[in-house]
Parts: sequence; C-alpha cells; structure tokens
Amino acid sequence: MRIAIISDIHSNLEALEKSLELIKEKSVDEILCLGDIIGYGANPNECIDLVRQTTPYVLLGNHDEAAAELSKTEYFNPFARMAAEWTNRELTDENRHFIHGLRFTLSHDNLFFVHASPHEPEEWHYILSPADAQFNFQYFLQPICFVGHSHVPGLFCEDIWTQEVVPEKKFIVNVGSIGQPRDNDWRLSFGIFDTEEWRYENIRAEYDVTSAAAKIRKAGLPKPLAERLFVGR
Ligand code: ZN
Repeated sequence: MRIAIISDIHSNLEALEKSLELIKEKSVDEILCLGDIIGYGANPNECIDLVRQTTPYVLLGNHDEAAAELSKTEYFNPFARMAAEWTNRELTDENRHFIHGLRFTLSHDNLFFVHASPHEPEEWHYILSPADAQFNFQYFLQPICFVGHSHVPGLFCEDIWTQEVVPEKKFIVNVGSIGQPRDNDWRLSFGIFDTEEWRYENIRAEYDVTSAAAKIRKAGLPKPLAERLFVGR
C-alpha cells in the first residue's frame, strides 16, 4: 500500500490543489492529513472542504484548534494570532464543527500519526533535534511515527547514523509543510510511504505561490505571511 501524508496546509489552496494533483499521478492508495489545515492563508473553508472530500483520516493541529476557538492563542506570535482571529471569523459552522471532531493521534496500518509529537500530543511540542526525537521514541510502539508541525521535512532514526527509512529500526519522519515550508525552500512538501517496499519519499514541487500570496494581501492578512511563502521561511 502507498500512503501519501500531507500536513500544515495553512489555508493555502494553490499548494493543496497542486499536491493532490501530484498524489493522483503517483498512484497512492490512501491519503492522511496530519493537521493545520487552516491558519495563515486566505482559503480556510476551501481547504477544509477539499481535505474532507479527499480523506477520512485527518488529525487536529494547533492552528486548527486555535482558529476553531478550542484553545487560547496567547502563545502565538502576533501574525499567527491575527491570522487565527481572521480564520475564526471566516469559518463556516459546518467546518468549525468538523475541526471540533478531529483527534490528536491515529494508529493505522502499524504506523503512528500525530501533528506535533507522540509525547503529549495536545501540548504541541516541537521535534527539532535528534535529542527531541530520542525522547519521543518511547511514546509510540509502531516502527514509524509521521509528524508535521515544524514545517521542516526530515527524519530521525533511533540509531542516529541512519539517514533513510529502513526495516527493523524506529523512525520519526517529518513530512514538511504543504502551505508554508520553513526550510528555506519555498516548494510544497509532503511524504509518500510504501508499506510493501518499506520506502519513504519526500516530494517537493513548485505551485502557484504568486496567487496564494496575492490572496493573503487581498484578504487583509499580515503582509509578511504572503512574503514568507516566496522564501520558505
Ligand atoms: Zn503548522
């Protein structure tokens, strides 16, 4: 089985549509979304609608939680907070209800999925370093845990010298971000995992960033949220 794992769309419809086109071409059996469908970008309802049509497997992200009033936004930086407030005003009742029904983790096909970290998923910890990853390995039983949240694609193995997914070792794989990459590469990022070949591939692709950024400015959202899309930061 081939599973596409998408995360951190952040209301970027152009990037989401492009990702789904690519996923179609790559003959994938299932699609999983690790959350943060909304927040930052200009098309929250369109992105939720499209994700809902695409997959039943959707997890809650911290920006979904904040925009749907499930949590406070005090820990957000000012731009993120403004975007969460704007998104909250835009959300349809149906989509707000959908966000309220999302879960934090999913165990599926002997793989583990969470937005931020297996340790205390509801606290939104970041896994940024090998040390963060080492600490988290004890909090899931499956061989691989897929995460998003940092918007930086990459992987961590229990054995720190291993650079790609191989059988019989434990991994935390970050699939990166569809709608707001932050690894100095502006192209959208997601993952495809093949459970038969036990092979992981990180996909990067260009999308219509100009249009996504123009909509952010037009919506009156903070301009830096548009500018950062061009640099991937
Ligand atoms: Zn995010």
